[in-house]
Amino acid sequence: MDHFHYQDDRLHCEEVALDRIAEAVGTPFFCYSGKTLRHHLAVFQQAFAKAKHLVCYSVKANSNLAILDLLARDGAGFDIVSGGELERVRRIGCPGHKIVFSGVGKTKEEIRQALEYGILMFNVESRSELYRIDTLAGELGVRASVALRINPDVDPNTHPHISTGLKRNKFGIPYHNALDLYRDAQRLSHIQLLGLDCHIGSQLTTLSPFVDALKRILTLVSTLKHEGIPLAYLDLGGGLGIPYDQSRPPPLPDHYASALLRELDGFDLTLILEPGRVIAGNAGVLVTRVEYIKDNEDKRFIITDAGMNDLMRPALYDAYHGIQPVVRRFGMEEEVVDVVGPICESGDFFARNRLLPAFSEGDLLAVRSSGAYGFSMSSNYNTRPRAAEVMVQGDRFAIIRRRETLDELLHNEILFP
Ligand SMILES: *Cc1c(COP(=O)(O)O)cnc(C)c1O
Repeated sequence: MDHFHYQDDRLHCEEVALDRIAEAVGTPFFCYSGKTLRHHLAVFQQAFAKAKHLVCYSVKANSNLAILDLLARDGAGFDIVSGGELERVRRIGCPGHKIVFSGVGKTKEEIRQALEYGILMFNVESRSELYRIDTLAGELGVRASVALRINPDVDPNTHPHISTGLKRNKFGIPYHNALDLYRDAQRLSHIQLLGLDCHIGSQLTTLSPFVDALKRILTLVSTLKHEGIPLAYLDLGGGLGIPYDQSRPPPLPDHYASALLRELDGFDLTLILEPGRVIAGNAGVLVTRVEYIKDNEDKRFIITDAGMNDLMRPALYDAYHGIQPVVRRFGMEEEVVDVVGPICESGDFFARNRLLPAFSEGDLLAVRSSGAYGFSMSSNYNTRPRAAEVMVQGDRFAIIRRRETLDELLHNEILFP
């Protein structure tokens, strides 16, 4: 459920017409619905209400401070994957006990910063990382709380670039090495073994991979308990998919939660969930203006002022995003077009061979489901300043990130002396 809808043929975010925002801030811009973000978080939290749990929003999905702040106020913790993301959650005043730190390549500096901040736990992805954390914790005279991220080797049936729980992926500790590493970890004097972590991929559209992974993981949890290594936390990662198109929608958070909780019956574990996309994805759109319409042979191209540098999911994953006119005109015909950006790459597209209302030059269009992995993956490719970000709450909107200027973009470049 989201709060983007037409009212008098103008696409609104909550009670604000998107063309009005375009007038005020220019294009392209991302627009997020505060109400939708809060609703998605609440649905997720309620789904797990029966269990001891902490929802740690995955910061990388959309890391704007205003969004983190909004979610924190509603009780969210955070899953971070870098020192930069730690700085973001620090700036919104998130307490350490609501932060988990994931990622395969944590540097010494990042680990030190997290230890000093006093985070809930590190999700450790290798033996080397475990020993590095032990050493650094020793130097700081503290004990690091850790979970080991176990790779359960199940196929999440999602795009290969966002599949993480297979043997061939770089993520996690191989299932058959897990027991050994837990035994070793228990002997390290600056490590406190708190839990087990597992994240098998993103944009999963069925429940069975989650359930299969959980079954494997729980076998391990039981074995560990018998070995005298009881765990308090089970982090099940993120990955629940969202509807991008009209095909069969992914399971709702409620169904996801009941499928997991069924397996967890009889285990005394505090759950950590790390949803990203399911919170932010459908809470945002990218609004862009049609610069040109161009006919090449038998193909019509709608050329927009946003490009793959703003939203790279189509280029990266061949992802589908719904596209809608921001203002519907009476009797708009439909035609099959490619919607493309201005960037010098053939991968720079938002839609291919798509039946869409016939746009004119100057029209605004909204690229739906752009709230997650949109701005956070954007770049300056082609020396394009990054887009503005706007949040709507009710009948008010505010810029939550100003459009980048060329001065800012070029600020750090220095001619060779
Ligand atoms: C990316 C990521 C998430 C969030 O995934 P979504 O598909 O956006 O829910 C959660 N945990 C980890 C470790 C991740 O890398």
